[in-house]
Amino acid sequence: MTLITNHMPTAELQALDAAHHMHPFTHGHDLERKGARVITRASGVTLTDSEGNEILDAMAGLWCVNIGYGRHELAEAAARQMRELPYYNTFFQTTHVPAIALADKLAELTPYDLNHVFYAGSGSEANDTNIRLVRTYWEQKGKPSKKVIISRKNAYHGSSVGSASLGGMSAMHAQGGLPIPDVHHINQPHWYAEGGDMTPEEFGLARARELEEAIHQIGEDRVAAFIGEPVQGAGGVIVPPSTYWPEIQRICDKYEILLIADEVICGFGRTGQWFASESYGIRPHIMTIAKGLSSGYAPIGGSLVCDEVAEVMNECDFAHGYTYSGHPVSCAVALENLRILQEEGIVERAGRETAPYLKEKWETLADHPLVGEAKIAGLMGSIALTPHKASRAKFAAEAGTAGFICREECFANNLVMRHVGDRMVISPPLIISKPEIDTLIERAGIALDNAYKRIKDEGLL
Ligand code: PMP
Repeated sequence: MTLITNHMPTAELQALDAAHHMHPFTHGHDLERKGARVITRASGVTLTDSEGNEILDAMAGLWCVNIGYGRHELAEAAARQMRELPYYNTFFQTTHVPAIALADKLAELTPYDLNHVFYAGSGSEANDTNIRLVRTYWEQKGKPSKKVIISRKNAYHGSSVGSASLGGMSAMHAQGGLPIPDVHHINQPHWYAEGGDMTPEEFGLARARELEEAIHQIGEDRVAAFIGEPVQGAGGVIVPPSTYWPEIQRICDKYEILLIADEVICGFGRTGQWFASESYGIRPHIMTIAKGLSSGYAPIGGSLVCDEVAEVMNECDFAHGYTYSGHPVSCAVALENLRILQEEGIVERAGRETAPYLKEKWETLADHPLVGEAKIAGLMGSIALTPHKASRAKFAAEAGTAGFICREECFANNLVMRHVGDRMVISPPLIISKPEIDTLIERAGIALDNAYKRIKDEGLL
């Protein structure tokens, strides 16, 4: 058996990886041909790969490393907890201190009366919990016909069967027999791509009112909940028009529909406040959390539940839970992460100083001939690539071709930006400094110039 270490030649690591490791959201043979990039270390906002390249991670991993890489306090919290109590469950009349302490901290940090947490191992698991939770809630209230959950097209809520059904990604639904029954998708509030001649405000209202139409069509007595990301992340960092969420809130209130805010990306500072619900005027009954909760240092997610829903659920024996619900090591790491985010004022600084600076710089990219719009919400941003700015046109080539070229040019310039179709997105660690933002923008500009040239050369314009 070969000892596999960071010191092995990259090509050998890539060959072993291709032989035995199946990657998420990846075409296996394509990856085998190209070879996976091997990341070996990280510190702050910088990744190091096996070739010694230093790469600015403008995605915070997968939107999760809010605190930045290399915080030893989190490693120590994990080691301490592993030595003391590496595992115990919270099923059969038992609990443990990390789960209690984190639940208490979450009740303090989260807005409104979201005072109760049901732990999960990830965002997908938490959204699976939500499906069963809202349906069980209505059964408990004597309304078992209320089962339908309304979501949006191009939403992302996870990759398990339940959460991917809530999501509105057609490519995901096309594989594996999704969605499950009683999930209904309305259109998304994506003005740039779908707003036509309407103003963003008119469009935001129109799209929110699709919820009301869907409730009428399905029947109020059948609708259990509405779920949405305050700002769509994996769908391309789509910042909704200002009119959207207040109208969704009004409709949920009017028809007594439970409102689930999926803050897996937005939570814990991403939009410049602790939770995006606060900035967008959303008052959820349930909030999905994961990612920034532990800054990705340990897998953990959860459903935060308001007092009334928790009260009703506490009347029954909810036959649901995961081996790793409230895993003590993950809870200890999350607690330490939250302690640092709070004590160092990282979220407040991100909102007050970093976000306005990033916004100013990011919006300059809209002047590039390839860019149709630059949007930003706190520390998550997107740019739309277009062959024709004024008409917000799409490329004639298959969606994602231009985006993929741009992503390659980013990598070639030691910058991680992700592409979602022909939108480029960023979500850097909250601790990114102003000089690092300057570097990000400079590399993004070079990548756009190079991509523009390639796109022209390849006849895509
Ligand atoms: N909800 C949202 C809004 C997400 O962005 C994600 C992951 N990108 C998930 C849920 C699923 O989380 P996980 O990958 O931890 O299962």
